Amino acid sequence: MEEENVLSFQEYECYPICDLRSALAAIEKIPGQLLQTDVPVNPDADLAGVYKLIGAGGTVERPTRLGPTMLFNSIQGYTDARVLVGLMASRERVATLLQAPVAELGIHLGKAIAKRIAPVAVSPDKAVCQEIVFRADDPGFDIMKIIPAPTNAPDDAGPFFCLGLVLASDPETGENDVTIHRLCVQGKDELSIFFAPGRHIDVFRAKAEAAGKALPVTINMGLDPAIYVGACFEAPTTPLGFDELAIAGGLRGRPVELADCITIPQKAIARAEIVIEGEILPHVRVKEDQHTNTGHAMPEFTGYEGAANPALPVIKIKAITMRRNAILQTLVGPGEECTNLAGLPTEASIYNAVEAARPGLVRNVYAHTAGGGKLLCILQVHKKTAMDQGRERQAALLALGVFSELKQIIIVDEDVDIFDSSEVLWALTTRYQGDASTIFIPGVRCHPLDPSQIPAYHPGIRGKGISCKTIFDCTVPYELKAAFKRAKFREIDPTPYAPALFDNKYKPNI
Ligand code: MN
Repeated sequence: MEEENVLSFQEYECYPICDLRSALAAIEKIPGQLLQTDVPVNPDADLAGVYKLIGAGGTVERPTRLGPTMLFNSIQGYTDARVLVGLMASRERVATLLQAPVAELGIHLGKAIAKRIAPVAVSPDKAVCQEIVFRADDPGFDIMKIIPAPTNAPDDAGPFFCLGLVLASDPETGENDVTIHRLCVQGKDELSIFFAPGRHIDVFRAKAEAAGKALPVTINMGLDPAIYVGACFEAPTTPLGFDELAIAGGLRGRPVELADCITIPQKAIARAEIVIEGEILPHVRVKEDQHTNTGHAMPEFTGYEGAANPALPVIKIKAITMRRNAILQTLVGPGEECTNLAGLPTEASIYNAVEAARPGLVRNVYAHTAGGGKLLCILQVHKKTAMDQGRERQAALLALGVFSELKQIIIVDEDVDIFDSSEVLWALTTRYQGDASTIFIPGVRCHPLDPSQIPAYHPGIRGKGISCKTIFDCTVPYELKAAFKRAKFREIDPTPYAPALFDNKYKPNI
């Protein structure tokens, strides 16, 4: 494993992390990583607008920056609500939270799949998520009076829960699935839920609907980050019937704890800050922007506003339960937090597949933030013999096979820092010939939210979500490697010349 000399997060002792509060306690110990404000903030577009300038990064409109996570302690219109945004909007913070080396987060996550531990049921006295209970059949119940769901951009369809981990069970097999879905508040006890095509909980919903039944679900918010990251794996790494909570168990070396719900036959994450208990109703659909008619949903991982969906399933809320002084955890749509959630499982899936097929060839994978962790990845290979020539392209083909939403792959050699975009562009500039080093694979299904994947963009595209996958091979041909050695500088400790910069923590970057 390589030593990191950029940020020494690993040097800070972490508490054992089992929920959001212990995660925040670990981050609070690192100077400058948790920013709190008591200035009252409007959750309707102001909160996200502030955080865009403080720490969103990724694909949001400039200006933005990477920065601390932010806890808003005072929300306009609410007496005791708190909102946390951006906890996972930094790879270094995620590394601290998962107690893993920052440069090998994806690889670390990939190993947790083999070490997975199934969740366990705990008794009601351990269900801290149920310290306070609001029942939807109580008079005056209104979700917007209880939880300050933020609106991210002024043109959004409405207030959204952006880090709602939906837990549901297959009506036929009883197997559980957890996935983060876009949830828009539609009424005092109603949410709409968006499913990208093929999502597992949508399969469960369709099965229940075919039987004329509602599907009981919980929406779990404010969680151990290991649960959120582990939940973002997709098929084929986690096929239908694979409970992604077991990956969080593998990351932590102990199972996620589940508690029985109060109003529905379903489980909730026992240490969640907030849980919404509800049912996806059969044969009911709503227009996502029925109250605003903006035509937009919310800013998506691509950096563009997603289109409001004309007909989405509806969750009827039965109860809201929460911890005392609960924290609503959210993200701002696109940005570095969304990239980390989507991208780390992408990296893990690709690394595991290529490593299994060709051990030792791929050194590392980075699901670049320009593609929101889905559309673009940097694949680092080490060609060790003449027989490895061409295998870098085979590795890229495998990557496209194992992660269907991936659109573009840039392959680089072992001497390129894949997390430094200038380095990657340097390889694209000096180790790439457009006509010889590009592989086009047209007409392959990709992710429907990339706006360039429509027939109007190019007549060769046969439908929305179909794209030309492209591999940019920026590796040096094996037999020419000797001619591509980088200019070598002397390795020297600069600390005496600039103590304020290096603070005696200089480690050679080898
Ligand atoms: Mn799944």
